[in-house]
Amino acid sequence: KAKEDGRNKYCFFTAGMQSQFNRQLQLENALRLAITNNQLQLAYQPQLCLEKNTLTGFEALLRWQHPELGFISPAEFIPVAEHSGLMIKLGEWVLQHAIQQQKRWYQHGYTELVMAINLSPVQFRQPELLDIISTQLELAKLPAHCIELEITESAMVEDAEQAIKTVDAIRHKGISLAIDDFGTGYSSLSYLKRFHLSKLKIDQSFVRELLDSPEDRAIVTAIIRMAQSLGLRTIAEGVETAEHQSLLQQLGCDDIQGYHYGRPMPAEAATAFIQQAFVHQQA
Ligand code: C2E
Ligand code: MG
Ligand code: MG
Ligand code: MG
Repeated sequence: KAKEDGRNKYCFFTAGMQSQFNRQLQLENALRLAITNNQLQLAYQPQLCLEKNTLTGFEALLRWQHPELGFISPAEFIPVAEHSGLMIKLGEWVLQHAIQQQKRWYQHGYTELVMAINLSPVQFRQPELLDIISTQLELAKLPAHCIELEITESAMVEDAEQAIKTVDAIRHKGISLAIDDFGTGYSSLSYLKRFHLSKLKIDQSFVRELLDSPEDRAIVTAIIRMAQSLGLRTIAEGVETAEHQSLLQQLGCDDIQGYHYGRPMPAEAATAFIQQAFVHQQA
């Protein structure tokens, strides 16, 4: 009986692993065709400056709608891309399209908006990264301050010396750099003094229960204080309610992003959002 149970468990386990593996393989193959088959899009989520109550810009978020597999979350397919050598190509697609969109808004006179673009650690380690970005900015005739790059702490742990060089090159070009999901990585805080960063994005896991959890409130408060002393801006992600927003404002957070201010949306909706925001800002 025990033996039978054990065998059943074993079979169940391998079947689970097998199907996960199959899914990854399926996604990998589908992802190879996603770019050429026009299945990718960018969604843009607005960011709000709390002090001025103004729209500062958007974060570009990748969306993949597959004709048979349906909507696939970037949380699922980005890791697949990273492990299969597809991330460089995918990342270039994102850079190109986000910068082209930013160019349209810039040409409409919205020259103060910033487009935040996520970088995979794989891209961050790519020697050609800065050339690719510079080329895209030149093609779009955009100044470097129009974009911001988001990287996670994990991008900086592997080869710290190389990472410092990359960060310096990005900053020297005039591009702002934010640490995404701040507080959830495994790196030490010492990189904060060695890297010339611009902004910390407080991870949504600390924001979610901010109102009820004294621990989360303590952590968020500490991150904001530390950022202030280091001369870094802070932005909280995953801000879903007005209560969250006003508490973050009280705590001294600079900017927010989340469903309360605006969801990730297609380019046309984002354009309407900008027009709306500027009408109110002028009034
Ligand atoms: P992220 O960069 O931390 O992006 C924030 C995620 O939080 C997005 O999920 C966004 O839709 C979601 N979000 C925003 N506001 C709220 C809120 O108020 N409540 C909740 N519950 N969620 C909110 P999304 O779009 O599914 O992206 C997931 C992750 O996939 C991103 O996390 C990022 O790590 C990665 N990703 C997305 N697009 C790209 C990309 O172009 N390149 C790379 N390398 N990674 C990307
Ligand atoms: Mg991000
Ligand atoms: Mg994040
Ligand atoms: Mg995240």
